[in-house]
Amino acid sequence: MARQLGKAAKTSETAGAAGSAARLSFLQQQFEAERLDAFVVSHLPNVFYLSGFTGSSGILLVTPQDAALFTDSRYTVQAADEVHEARVHIVRGSLLNAVGERLARLRARGNVRRSSHKNVRRVGFEAARLTVLQKHALDKAAGAKVRWLPWDGKIEAARAVKDADELRIMREAADIACSSWQEILPLVKPGIRENELAAELEFRMRRKGASGPAFDTIVASGPRGALPHAHASPRAIGKNELVVFDLGAILRGYSSDLTRTVFVGRAPAEIRRWYAAVLQAQQAARDALRPGVSAHQVDAAARQALRRAALDKKFVHSTGHGLGLEVHEMPRLGRGEKSILRAGMVVTLEPGVYVEGTGGIRIEDDALVTQTGAEYLTCANRELIELE
Ligand code: ZN
Ligand code: ZN
Repeated sequence: MARQLGKAAKTSETAGAAGSAARLSFLQQQFEAERLDAFVVSHLPNVFYLSGFTGSSGILLVTPQDAALFTDSRYTVQAADEVHEARVHIVRGSLLNAVGERLARLRARGNVRRSSHKNVRRVGFEAARLTVLQKHALDKAAGAKVRWLPWDGKIEAARAVKDADELRIMREAADIACSSWQEILPLVKPGIRENELAAELEFRMRRKGASGPAFDTIVASGPRGALPHAHASPRAIGKNELVVFDLGAILRGYSSDLTRTVFVGRAPAEIRRWYAAVLQAQQAARDALRPGVSAHQVDAAARQALRRAALDKKFVHSTGHGLGLEVHEMPRLGRGEKSILRAGMVVTLEPGVYVEGTGGIRIEDDALVTQTGAEYLTCANRELIELE
């Protein structure tokens, strides 16, 4: 096994491959408490996390003794290269069908041989990740004797705390977003279109090694900035406008997420006041961020700072979210979120203010919770940039 792990680390560029043995056994250790005989993992970021497999079609069947990856013939070579801790099954037709049939076979074999598989009865699955139709296909192939147990959030909870390999990649992904954003600043002038700037950002991120943008790059100018999720449009940037940039790079499976807001021209006093309030809100969230606090406390810190500036009603989303193999993952930093922050978690801090008809201001950074506080993965400068 040690030799295989060494090979995985050498041949695969992913962090997931090297850690998959430890991650699988951590998961398997939890089976007993829940009396689980098997677990069907269908959410692809979770499949990657446990097996190192990066393909777009794969289901992992984990039993207390081992794991099997089901994929199709497009991935024969790739699965052999990436997956070292699970047996690979190349399937024709429906993967869910094949997984269900495998469960039925394990049951039958267990009944005959009285082997360790004899009790393949209680099977966990990711209820939040399967459609009703997909679940039905699993039911049908596995047979009536399987008792299905929703087992959501276990892998996601493990994923929330990053290891050293993951952090190394995430630091680099953050650097790619930051340096790409800094490079395009000279292009931000009246007349250039939002989607031209988005293309410039994505081109630069790719050239620096990203496999793609982590999400549709947001460039939202003027009144469009008041829509927190506006994607880049053909709108030409005007003079004396705010422009919100929200971008991220995917590097070896891991995402970064960065927002900066600039003003094209000299910012009037009111805009400066709003910007200062958002910056103070982010600083308040930074000051609150450390291991042991609950997620809602960090959110409340940002919200209180905006309330002092009478802008809390213009802050229409939560303060941040976990970041990793997905752009939005556990923990969410919002109202009522009780999860406790732990060292090794990477979260965004992204308070914003949105004023209909005028525009938006958001400042977002990626923070690693450390033993004593937090370390920031994204660019240092958060001051208002005025482009004249
Ligand atoms: Zn973002
Ligand atoms: Zn974000």
